[in-house]
Amino acid sequence: MISKTSVVVRLSKSQRYSKLTKLIHGGNSHNKNYNGIYSSDSTHHLHHNSANYPIRQMTTSTNSGNTSRNSKTNSDNSINDSNQQREKDLLVREMYNFILNDNKSILEIKACEDQKKGRGLFLRSDIHSSLIPNTTLFKEKPFVSYPSIINHENVCGNCLKPLENNKSLDSSVAKNHSKCDSCEEEYCSDKCRHEASLDFHGILCKSNEPGFEKIKKYCTLEKRRFPIMASKILAKILLGIHLEKSIKHTWIPLQMISFAKKPAPLEWEDDYKTFSKELLKSSPSLLKQYNYEWFVRVMQILYLNTIGIDIQREEKPIVSSPASGIGLYFLASFINHSCDPNAYTHFPDDHTCHLKLLKSVQPGDEITISYTDPTQNIVDRRSSLFENYGFNCECPKCVSELPKKKSPLNIKK
Ligand SMILES: [Zn+2]
Ligand SMILES: [Zn+2]
Ligand SMILES: [Zn+2]
Repeated sequence: MISKTSVVVRLSKSQRYSKLTKLIHGGNSHNKNYNGIYSSDSTHHLHHNSANYPIRQMTTSTNSGNTSRNSKTNSDNSINDSNQQREKDLLVREMYNFILNDNKSILEIKACEDQKKGRGLFLRSDIHSSLIPNTTLFKEKPFVSYPSIINHENVCGNCLKPLENNKSLDSSVAKNHSKCDSCEEEYCSDKCRHEASLDFHGILCKSNEPGFEKIKKYCTLEKRRFPIMASKILAKILLGIHLEKSIKHTWIPLQMISFAKKPAPLEWEDDYKTFSKELLKSSPSLLKQYNYEWFVRVMQILYLNTIGIDIQREEKPIVSSPASGIGLYFLASFINHSCDPNAYTHFPDDHTCHLKLLKSVQPGDEITISYTDPTQNIVDRRSSLFENYGFNCECPKCVSELPKKKSPLNIKK
């Protein structure tokens, strides 16, 4: 079971941030409801990149209707409202800055003009020149990643870098490999071993937590990976707090990204049974904090935002396949879809996502990637997007290819 020390620290810190969390959750309107259906997570990511639908409205400012309530009798309420709004705006801005990280000077997250699209990632309008094709716009490490089931044994347990080739080489190369002191988990380097240990392995190592091995077995059997990702997220949250890293770098930014708003499919109940039995066991406080509702939210986030990772040097497909694994990326999750995208994801070395430009991009332009294979015909593209991401694509390419609506006069003669 997860260690007791982290639980104690967690409660005090989480109380401190529960107010902030409520601000994010409370009273949000959603631009769009997810209309799609869930498919098995093992097949879902064959061609998918991250999604940003449906969008959870997180725009700063605008509290429409507030002015009319600003009468004297309600002045206390409206002061509270506006204080709350200001606090929320500040938190949202702080989180966007955290997610944008070093890219703040060229990129911004903001609401799209088309309200249906919610938020998107834009090249800032105050930069002075356009960017040319092949530019690497940003590099981002995932919040969590996991190797594909066939690859599991042959890749670094932290960064997913292939280990296989190195094994056949001479021992000087092989000696860079590093193993966990307590289990057989292998890493490409000491640096990765150390990083993994601080990030999640410190909790999930077989020697501390045999339950995680059972979750992995269950997932292999059921061909599911999201419960493993959820376990890593739980470990990250608990370890981050334990190591005095703020929950503001884990749970709160996680809640800034969109999630699929759809009732949980039945298999998630089974997933949670295994997850809670193996990781939370008999701790009432953990069971209360990381309850089924928490789990469903994490699964909804993973469902909509996980990107396929295909590690290869040469640039190839516009849409990554999950040959090497899957990952959840904070910043990349804000990139909207277009069937004629101006950017794509590439993984030349490890699980670090390189966002590269396909076309030149002008100041103020929205950055887009394709969530589905853009070479498919319009019918297949749109039905795949609807089924997996719950939206009807109205990108310029789809609009130009859609049959023109007949005017009533032309319908029948
Ligand atoms: Zn590594
Ligand atoms: Zn270990
Ligand atoms: Zn389209």
